[in-house]
Amino acid sequence: MRISTLAFISFAFATLTFAAERKPNVIVIVGDDMGYADVGFHGCKDIPTPHLDALAKAGVRCTNGYVSGPYCSPTRAGLLTGRYQQRFGHEFNSGGPGGGLPLSEKTMADRFKVAGYKTGMVGKWHLGGKPEQHPMKRGFDEYFGFLGGAHSYFPGRDMLKSILRGTQPVEENAYLTDAFGREALAFIDRHKGEPFFLYLAFNAVHTPMHADDERLKKFAHITDKTRRTYAAMMSAMDDAVGAVRARLQAHGLEENTIITFFSDNGGPVMPTTSINGSINTPLRGSKRQTLEGGIRVPFIVAWPKHLPAGKVYDQPVIQLDLQPTLLAACGVAFGAADKFDGVNLLPYLSGKETGAPHDKLFWRFGEQMAIRQGDWKLVRYGRTEKIDENETWPKLYNLKEDIGEANDLSAKHPEKVQELEAAWKQWNADLPKPVGASGAQKGKKKKKSGE
Ligand code: CA
Repeated sequence: MRISTLAFISFAFATLTFAAERKPNVIVIVGDDMGYADVGFHGCKDIPTPHLDALAKAGVRCTNGYVSGPYCSPTRAGLLTGRYQQRFGHEFNSGGPGGGLPLSEKTMADRFKVAGYKTGMVGKWHLGGKPEQHPMKRGFDEYFGFLGGAHSYFPGRDMLKSILRGTQPVEENAYLTDAFGREALAFIDRHKGEPFFLYLAFNAVHTPMHADDERLKKFAHITDKTRRTYAAMMSAMDDAVGAVRARLQAHGLEENTIITFFSDNGGPVMPTTSINGSINTPLRGSKRQTLEGGIRVPFIVAWPKHLPAGKVYDQPVIQLDLQPTLLAACGVAFGAADKFDGVNLLPYLSGKETGAPHDKLFWRFGEQMAIRQGDWKLVRYGRTEKIDENETWPKLYNLKEDIGEANDLSAKHPEKVQELEAAWKQWNADLPKPVGASGAQKGKKKKKSGE
Protein backbone atom coordinates (compact mmCIF):
# COMPACT_ATOMS: atom_id res chain seq x y z
CA MET A 1 0.00 0.00 0.00
CA ARG A 2 2.71 2.35 1.07
CA ILE A 3 4.78 1.42 -1.97
CA SER A 4 1.91 2.05 -4.37
CA THR A 5 1.20 5.41 -2.71
CA LEU A 6 4.83 6.33 -3.08
CA ALA A 7 4.78 5.18 -6.68
CA PHE A 8 1.70 7.29 -7.31
CA ILE A 9 3.27 10.36 -5.71
CA SER A 10 6.44 9.88 -7.68
CA PHE A 11 4.43 9.43 -10.89
CA ALA A 12 2.39 12.56 -10.15
CA PHE A 13 5.57 14.49 -9.40
CA ALA A 14 7.17 13.29 -12.66
CA THR A 15 4.06 14.34 -14.58
CA LEU A 16 4.04 17.77 -12.95
CA THR A 17 7.72 18.22 -13.62
CA PHE A 18 7.20 17.20 -17.21
CA ALA A 19 4.31 19.65 -17.57
CA ALA A 20 6.36 22.46 -16.04
CA GLU A 21 9.33 21.70 -18.25
CA ARG A 22 7.47 20.95 -21.41
CA LYS A 23 9.62 21.58 -24.41
CA PRO A 24 8.78 24.79 -26.25
CA ASN A 25 6.72 24.74 -29.41
CA VAL A 26 8.18 26.18 -32.60
CA ILE A 27 6.44 28.07 -35.37
CA VAL A 28 8.46 29.19 -38.39
CA ILE A 29 6.46 31.62 -40.52
CA VAL A 30 7.71 32.60 -43.97
CA GLY A 31 6.38 35.35 -46.24
CA ASP A 32 7.09 35.32 -49.97
CA ASP A 33 8.53 38.17 -52.06
CA MET A 34 7.86 40.86 -49.44
CA GLY A 35 9.44 44.26 -49.80
CA TYR A 36 11.83 45.32 -47.04
CA ALA A 37 9.87 48.56 -46.63
CA ASP A 38 6.44 46.96 -46.45
CA VAL A 39 5.97 46.25 -42.77
CA GLY A 40 4.95 48.68 -40.06
CA PHE A 41 8.05 47.84 -38.02
CA HIS A 42 10.17 49.13 -40.91
CA GLY A 43 8.11 52.31 -41.13
CA CYS A 44 5.54 51.34 -43.77
CA LYS A 45 2.66 53.83 -43.76
CA ASP A 46 0.19 52.71 -46.43
CA ILE A 47 -0.07 49.03 -45.48
CA PRO A 48 -0.85 48.40 -41.80
CA THR A 49 0.70 45.17 -40.47
CA PRO A 50 -0.46 45.34 -36.84
CA HIS A 51 0.02 41.65 -36.11
CA LEU A 52 3.52 41.43 -37.55
CA ASP A 53 4.37 44.63 -35.69
CA ALA A 54 3.02 43.08 -32.47
CA LEU A 55 5.19 40.00 -33.09
CA ALA A 56 8.23 42.25 -33.58
CA LYS A 57 7.37 44.05 -30.32
CA ALA A 58 7.10 40.72 -28.52
CA GLY A 59 10.57 39.66 -29.66
CA VAL A 60 13.74 40.68 -31.43
CA ARG A 61 13.66 42.21 -34.86
CA CYS A 62 16.84 41.93 -36.87
CA THR A 63 17.55 44.93 -39.10
CA ASN A 64 20.33 43.01 -40.87
CA GLY A 65 18.38 39.81 -41.34
CA TYR A 66 19.43 37.96 -44.49
CA VAL A 67 18.42 35.00 -46.57
CA SER A 68 21.02 32.83 -48.31
CA GLY A 69 19.35 33.12 -51.72
CA PRO A 70 17.59 35.92 -53.60
CA TYR A 71 15.01 33.41 -54.79
CA CYS A 72 12.23 31.23 -53.38
CA SER A 73 13.40 27.63 -53.50
CA PRO A 74 17.10 28.15 -52.61
CA THR A 75 16.15 30.10 -49.48
CA ARG A 76 13.76 27.37 -48.34
CA ALA A 77 16.46 24.74 -48.92
CA GLY A 78 18.83 26.77 -46.74
CA LEU A 79 16.18 27.21 -44.04
CA LEU A 80 15.28 23.54 -43.75
CA THR A 81 18.87 22.27 -43.85
CA GLY A 82 20.63 25.04 -41.92
CA ARG A 83 23.30 24.95 -44.64
CA TYR A 84 24.25 27.12 -47.58
CA GLN A 85 22.09 25.49 -50.25
CA GLN A 86 24.91 25.78 -52.78
CA ARG A 87 26.75 23.10 -50.79
CA PHE A 88 24.35 20.53 -52.21
CA GLY A 89 23.73 22.13 -55.60
CA HIS A 90 20.41 23.84 -54.72
CA GLU A 91 21.39 27.22 -56.11
CA PHE A 92 18.33 27.84 -58.28
CA ASN A 93 14.64 27.07 -58.25
CA SER A 94 13.96 23.41 -58.12
CA GLY A 95 12.24 22.52 -61.40
CA GLY A 96 13.32 19.83 -63.82
CA PRO A 97 15.18 16.56 -63.43
CA GLY A 98 17.46 16.43 -60.42
CA GLY A 99 15.62 19.41 -58.92
CA GLY A 100 14.23 19.54 -55.43
CA LEU A 101 15.88 19.22 -52.07
CA PRO A 102 18.38 16.32 -52.35
CA LEU A 103 17.40 13.30 -50.31
CA SER A 104 20.91 13.28 -48.88
CA GLU A 105 19.98 16.31 -46.74
CA LYS A 106 18.26 16.11 -43.36
CA THR A 107 15.58 18.73 -42.70
CA MET A 108 14.65 20.70 -39.61
CA ALA A 109 11.45 18.62 -39.52
CA ASP A 110 13.48 15.37 -39.51
CA ARG A 111 15.39 16.62 -36.49
CA PHE A 112 12.33 17.80 -34.56
CA LYS A 113 10.52 14.57 -35.34
CA VAL A 114 13.34 12.43 -33.96
CA ALA A 115 13.27 14.62 -30.85
CA GLY A 116 9.63 13.65 -30.25
CA TYR A 117 7.95 16.69 -31.75
CA LYS A 118 4.74 16.59 -33.77
CA THR A 119 5.76 18.19 -37.05
CA GLY A 120 3.48 19.92 -39.51
CA MET A 121 3.72 22.07 -42.58
CA VAL A 122 1.14 24.40 -44.07
CA GLY A 123 1.71 26.25 -47.34
CA LYS A 124 4.17 26.50 -50.21
CA TRP A 125 6.74 23.72 -50.40
CA HIS A 126 8.81 24.44 -53.53
CA LEU A 127 11.42 21.82 -52.69
CA GLY A 128 10.49 19.19 -55.24
CA GLY A 129 7.30 17.65 -56.60
CA LYS A 130 8.28 13.98 -56.82
CA PRO A 131 6.63 11.54 -54.37
CA GLU A 132 9.89 10.96 -52.48
CA GLN A 133 10.31 14.74 -52.07
CA HIS A 134 6.88 15.32 -50.53
CA PRO A 135 7.02 17.14 -47.15
CA MET A 136 5.73 14.00 -45.42
CA LYS A 137 8.81 12.17 -46.72
CA ARG A 138 11.01 15.00 -45.42
CA GLY A 139 10.14 14.89 -41.75
CA PHE A 140 6.64 16.37 -41.58
CA ASP A 141 3.89 14.29 -39.96
CA GLU A 142 1.19 16.44 -41.53
CA TYR A 143 0.93 18.63 -44.61
CA PHE A 144 -1.57 21.01 -46.16
CA GLY A 145 -0.57 23.16 -49.11
CA PHE A 146 0.84 23.06 -52.63
CA LEU A 147 4.15 21.66 -53.82
CA GLY A 148 5.12 24.23 -56.47
CA GLY A 149 6.41 27.78 -56.37
CA ALA A 150 3.21 29.78 -56.95
CA HIS A 151 -0.51 29.20 -56.76
CA SER A 152 -3.80 30.89 -57.42
CA TYR A 153 -5.41 32.33 -54.29
CA PHE A 154 -8.91 31.58 -55.51
CA PRO A 155 -10.51 28.26 -56.39
CA GLY A 156 -10.54 27.47 -60.07
CA ARG A 157 -8.56 30.50 -61.20
CA ASP A 158 -5.74 30.16 -63.73
CA MET A 159 -4.07 27.18 -62.12
CA LEU A 160 -4.81 23.52 -61.61
CA LYS A 161 -6.43 22.21 -58.48
CA SER A 162 -3.34 21.25 -56.62
CA ILE A 163 -3.96 21.86 -52.97
CA LEU A 164 -3.06 18.75 -51.02
CA ARG A 165 -4.05 17.50 -47.59
CA GLY A 166 -1.32 15.01 -46.92
CA THR A 167 -0.80 13.53 -50.36
CA GLN A 168 -4.44 13.83 -51.51
CA PRO A 169 -5.78 16.69 -53.64
CA VAL A 170 -8.65 18.50 -51.92
CA GLU A 171 -11.17 21.05 -53.06
CA GLU A 172 -10.40 24.33 -51.33
CA ASN A 173 -12.92 27.13 -51.58
CA ALA A 174 -11.43 29.69 -49.23
CA TYR A 175 -9.04 32.47 -50.21
CA LEU A 176 -5.72 30.62 -50.01
CA THR A 177 -4.03 32.75 -47.35
CA ASP A 178 -7.13 32.41 -45.15
CA ALA A 179 -7.09 28.65 -45.76
CA PHE A 180 -3.44 28.44 -44.66
CA GLY A 181 -4.28 30.44 -41.54
CA ARG A 182 -7.23 28.13 -40.78
CA GLU A 183 -5.03 25.04 -41.19
CA ALA A 184 -2.34 26.49 -38.92
CA LEU A 185 -4.94 27.04 -36.19
CA ALA A 186 -6.28 23.52 -36.65
CA PHE A 187 -2.75 22.12 -36.31
CA ILE A 188 -2.25 24.05 -33.08
CA ASP A 189 -5.62 22.82 -31.77
CA ARG A 190 -4.81 19.20 -32.61
CA HIS A 191 -1.40 19.28 -30.96
CA LYS A 192 -1.78 21.75 -28.12
CA GLY A 193 -1.03 18.99 -25.61
CA GLU A 194 2.35 17.97 -27.03
CA PRO A 195 5.47 19.76 -28.28
CA PHE A 196 5.02 20.76 -31.92
CA PHE A 197 6.96 22.26 -34.80
CA LEU A 198 4.87 24.09 -37.40
CA TYR A 199 6.33 25.44 -40.64
CA LEU A 200 3.82 27.95 -42.00
CA ALA A 201 4.99 29.04 -45.45
CA PHE A 202 2.64 31.54 -47.05
CA ASN A 203 2.81 32.18 -50.78
CA ALA A 204 1.61 35.70 -50.00
CA VAL A 205 2.64 38.17 -51.31
CA HIS A 206 3.96 36.36 -54.39
CA THR A 207 2.14 36.66 -57.71
CA PRO A 208 -0.52 36.01 -59.00
CA MET A 209 -1.97 39.24 -57.66
CA HIS A 210 -5.23 37.98 -56.21
CA ALA A 211 -7.01 39.67 -53.32
CA ASP A 212 -10.48 39.31 -51.87
CA ASP A 213 -12.99 42.13 -52.35
CA GLU A 214 -13.48 42.79 -48.67
CA ARG A 215 -9.82 43.47 -48.03
CA LEU A 216 -9.46 45.37 -51.31
CA LYS A 217 -12.13 47.78 -50.07
CA LYS A 218 -9.99 48.55 -47.03
CA PHE A 219 -7.26 49.80 -49.37
CA ALA A 220 -9.41 51.78 -51.82
CA HIS A 221 -7.30 54.84 -51.01
CA ILE A 222 -4.22 53.28 -52.65
CA THR A 223 -4.46 54.46 -56.24
CA ASP A 224 -1.92 52.07 -57.79
CA LYS A 225 -3.88 48.90 -58.47
CA THR A 226 -0.96 46.51 -58.03
CA ARG A 227 0.05 48.13 -54.74
CA ARG A 228 -3.60 48.07 -53.59
CA THR A 229 -3.84 44.34 -54.32
CA TYR A 230 -0.48 43.73 -52.65
CA ALA A 231 -1.71 45.61 -49.57
CA ALA A 232 -4.82 43.44 -49.39
CA MET A 233 -2.73 40.27 -49.79
CA MET A 234 -0.32 41.43 -47.08
CA SER A 235 -3.26 42.24 -44.84
CA ALA A 236 -4.55 38.67 -45.22
CA MET A 237 -1.18 37.25 -44.17
CA ASP A 238 -0.99 39.68 -41.27
CA ASP A 239 -4.47 38.60 -40.15
CA ALA A 240 -3.38 34.96 -40.23
CA VAL A 241 -0.28 35.71 -38.14
CA GLY A 242 -2.51 37.51 -35.62
CA ALA A 243 -4.91 34.56 -35.52
CA VAL A 244 -2.05 32.13 -34.86
CA ARG A 245 -0.81 34.19 -31.90
CA ALA A 246 -4.35 34.60 -30.54
CA ARG A 247 -4.86 30.85 -30.70
CA LEU A 248 -1.60 30.20 -28.84
CA GLN A 249 -2.79 32.62 -26.19
CA ALA A 250 -6.19 30.93 -25.95
CA HIS A 251 -4.43 27.63 -25.26
CA GLY A 252 -1.99 29.20 -22.81
CA LEU A 253 0.90 28.39 -25.14
CA GLU A 254 2.08 31.89 -25.96
CA GLU A 255 4.97 31.91 -23.53
CA ASN A 256 6.16 28.44 -24.40
CA THR A 257 6.25 28.99 -28.16
CA ILE A 258 9.11 30.45 -30.14
CA ILE A 259 8.00 32.14 -33.36
CA THR A 260 10.20 33.31 -36.20
CA PHE A 261 9.17 35.30 -39.23
CA PHE A 262 11.05 36.32 -42.38
CA SER A 263 10.48 36.78 -46.10
CA ASP A 264 12.11 34.22 -48.41
CA ASN A 265 13.67 37.00 -50.52
CA GLY A 266 13.23 40.70 -51.20
CA GLY A 267 10.52 42.35 -53.27
CA PRO A 268 10.65 41.72 -57.04
CA VAL A 269 11.05 45.36 -58.01
CA MET A 270 13.29 44.79 -61.03
CA PRO A 271 13.88 46.12 -63.60
CA THR A 272 11.74 49.25 -63.35
CA THR A 273 8.28 48.30 -62.15
CA SER A 274 7.59 46.24 -59.07
CA ILE A 275 5.91 43.03 -60.22
CA ASN A 276 3.79 42.69 -57.07
CA GLY A 277 3.81 46.32 -55.90
CA SER A 278 6.45 45.74 -53.21
CA ILE A 279 9.01 48.37 -52.17
CA ASN A 280 12.52 47.61 -50.84
CA THR A 281 13.65 51.11 -49.82
CA PRO A 282 16.07 52.13 -48.46
CA LEU A 283 17.68 49.06 -49.98
CA ARG A 284 18.74 48.91 -53.60
CA GLY A 285 17.94 45.99 -55.84
CA SER A 286 15.40 43.24 -56.20
CA LYS A 287 14.55 39.60 -55.81
CA ARG A 288 17.02 37.70 -58.07
CA GLN A 289 19.86 40.03 -57.12
CA THR A 290 22.63 39.81 -54.55
CA LEU A 291 22.15 43.51 -53.82
CA GLU A 292 20.60 44.14 -50.40
CA GLY A 293 17.10 44.42 -51.90
CA GLY A 294 17.24 40.77 -52.92
CA ILE A 295 18.67 39.25 -49.75
CA ARG A 296 17.95 41.48 -46.73
CA VAL A 297 14.44 40.93 -45.42
CA PRO A 298 12.06 41.59 -42.52
CA PHE A 299 13.25 39.17 -39.82
CA ILE A 300 11.85 38.45 -36.33
CA VAL A 301 12.64 35.96 -33.57
CA ALA A 302 10.15 36.08 -30.67
CA TRP A 303 10.21 33.95 -27.53
CA PRO A 304 8.52 35.55 -24.51
CA LYS A 305 10.55 35.56 -21.27
CA HIS A 306 13.57 34.02 -23.00
CA LEU A 307 14.42 36.75 -25.49
CA PRO A 308 13.98 40.47 -24.86
CA ALA A 309 10.75 42.03 -26.10
CA GLY A 310 10.98 44.91 -28.53
CA LYS A 311 14.71 44.58 -29.03
CA VAL A 312 16.31 45.76 -32.27
CA TYR A 313 19.35 43.71 -33.24
CA ASP A 314 21.71 45.13 -35.85
CA GLN A 315 24.41 42.49 -36.38
CA PRO A 316 24.04 40.44 -39.57
CA VAL A 317 22.09 37.22 -39.13
CA ILE A 318 20.78 34.79 -41.75
CA GLN A 319 17.90 32.35 -42.09
CA LEU A 320 20.47 29.51 -41.89
CA ASP A 321 20.77 30.45 -38.21
CA LEU A 322 17.18 29.61 -37.42
CA GLN A 323 17.59 25.84 -37.34
CA PRO A 324 20.44 25.73 -34.78
CA THR A 325 18.70 28.50 -32.84
CA LEU A 326 15.40 26.65 -32.66
CA LEU A 327 16.98 23.28 -31.90
CA ALA A 328 18.98 24.89 -29.09
CA ALA A 329 15.83 26.57 -27.72
CA CYS A 330 14.17 23.16 -27.58
CA GLY A 331 17.12 21.30 -26.13
CA VAL A 332 17.58 19.18 -29.25
CA ALA A 333 21.24 18.21 -29.56
CA PHE A 334 23.19 18.93 -32.72
CA GLY A 335 26.86 19.00 -33.55
CA ALA A 336 29.60 19.05 -36.16
CA ALA A 337 28.04 16.11 -38.02
CA ASP A 338 25.06 18.32 -38.88
CA LYS A 339 27.43 20.64 -40.80
CA PHE A 340 25.31 23.68 -40.07
CA ASP A 341 26.48 26.97 -41.53
CA GLY A 342 24.09 28.80 -39.25
CA VAL A 343 24.79 29.47 -35.59
CA ASN A 344 22.64 29.44 -32.46
CA LEU A 345 21.53 33.07 -32.12
CA LEU A 346 20.03 32.78 -28.63
CA PRO A 347 23.07 34.11 -26.72
CA TYR A 348 23.39 36.97 -29.21
CA LEU A 349 19.75 37.98 -29.30
CA SER A 350 19.46 37.73 -25.51
CA GLY A 351 22.52 39.95 -25.12
CA LYS A 352 24.74 37.37 -23.37
CA GLU A 353 27.13 37.46 -26.32
CA THR A 354 28.03 40.90 -27.58
CA GLY A 355 30.11 40.02 -30.65
CA ALA A 356 28.85 39.27 -34.15
CA PRO A 357 27.36 35.81 -34.75
CA HIS A 358 29.18 35.61 -38.11
CA ASP A 359 32.58 36.76 -39.22
CA LYS A 360 31.42 36.57 -42.84
CA LEU A 361 28.29 35.76 -44.83
CA PHE A 362 28.42 34.51 -48.42
CA TRP A 363 26.15 34.43 -51.46
CA ARG A 364 26.36 32.84 -54.89
CA PHE A 365 23.59 32.91 -57.48
CA GLY A 366 24.90 31.93 -60.91
CA GLU A 367 27.48 34.57 -61.82
CA GLN A 368 26.24 36.85 -59.08
CA MET A 369 28.04 36.81 -55.75
CA ALA A 370 28.36 38.70 -52.51
CA ILE A 371 30.26 38.57 -49.26
CA ARG A 372 29.57 40.61 -46.16
CA GLN A 373 32.09 41.14 -43.39
CA GLY A 374 31.27 43.72 -40.73
CA ASP A 375 30.04 46.83 -42.51
CA TRP A 376 31.74 45.86 -45.78
CA LYS A 377 30.10 44.16 -48.71
CA LEU A 378 31.70 43.03 -51.94
CA VAL A 379 29.21 42.20 -54.69
CA ARG A 380 28.71 41.26 -58.31
CA TYR A 381 25.06 41.57 -59.22
CA GLY A 382 23.00 41.24 -62.37
CA ARG A 383 19.50 41.47 -63.74
CA THR A 384 19.41 37.71 -63.96
CA GLU A 385 21.83 35.17 -62.57
CA LYS A 386 24.29 36.62 -65.09
CA ILE A 387 26.16 39.87 -64.72
CA ASP A 388 27.02 42.51 -67.30
CA GLU A 389 30.64 41.85 -68.16
CA ASN A 390 31.09 45.35 -69.56
CA GLU A 391 30.92 46.82 -66.09
CA THR A 392 33.80 46.95 -63.67
CA TRP A 393 33.45 44.28 -60.99
CA PRO A 394 33.25 43.73 -58.16
CA LYS A 395 31.71 46.66 -56.29
CA LEU A 396 32.60 47.45 -52.70
CA TYR A 397 30.13 49.13 -50.37
CA ASN A 398 30.18 50.21 -46.76
CA LEU A 399 26.67 49.35 -45.62
CA LYS A 400 26.86 51.35 -42.41
CA GLU A 401 27.40 54.57 -44.34
CA ASP A 402 25.68 53.52 -47.55
CA ILE A 403 22.75 51.18 -46.97
CA GLY A 404 21.53 51.86 -50.54
CA GLU A 405 24.76 50.56 -52.13
CA ALA A 406 25.20 53.73 -54.18
CA ASN A 407 28.85 54.57 -53.56
CA ASP A 408 31.32 52.01 -54.94
CA LEU A 409 34.51 52.18 -52.87
CA SER A 410 36.46 49.50 -54.74
CA ALA A 411 38.94 51.98 -56.24
CA LYS A 412 39.47 53.65 -52.86
CA HIS A 413 40.01 50.41 -50.91
CA PRO A 414 41.64 47.88 -53.26
CA GLU A 415 43.11 46.01 -50.30
CA LYS A 416 39.62 45.40 -48.90
CA VAL A 417 38.44 44.18 -52.31
CA GLN A 418 41.35 41.77 -52.46
CA GLU A 419 40.78 40.48 -48.93
CA LEU A 420 37.04 39.89 -49.39
CA GLU A 421 37.46 38.41 -52.84
CA ALA A 422 40.02 35.93 -51.52
CA ALA A 423 37.68 34.94 -48.69
CA TRP A 424 34.76 34.47 -51.08
CA LYS A 425 36.88 32.39 -53.47
CA GLN A 426 37.93 30.15 -50.61
CA TRP A 427 34.26 29.56 -49.70
CA ASN A 428 33.34 29.08 -53.34
CA ALA A 429 36.13 26.57 -54.01
CA ASP A 430 34.32 23.91 -51.96
CA LEU A 431 30.98 24.27 -53.74
CA PRO A 432 29.74 21.82 -56.36
CA LYS A 433 28.21 22.90 -59.64
CA PRO A 434 24.52 23.85 -59.30
CA VAL A 435 21.96 21.17 -60.08
CA GLY A 436 19.59 22.03 -62.95
CA ALA A 437 19.53 25.02 -65.25
CA SER A 438 19.02 28.52 -63.91
CA GLY A 439 16.21 30.72 -65.23
CA ALA A 440 18.71 32.68 -67.34
CA GLN A 441 20.16 29.54 -68.91
CA LYS A 442 16.70 28.19 -69.65
CA GLY A 443 15.69 31.50 -71.25
CA LYS A 444 18.76 31.46 -73.47
CA LYS A 445 18.07 27.91 -74.60
CA LYS A 446 14.47 28.75 -75.44
CA LYS A 447 15.50 31.74 -77.52
CA LYS A 448 18.03 29.67 -79.47
CA SER A 449 15.55 26.95 -80.27
CA GLY A 450 13.01 29.59 -81.29
CA GLU A 451 10.33 28.47 -78.85
CA1 CA B 1 10.00 34.27 -53.01
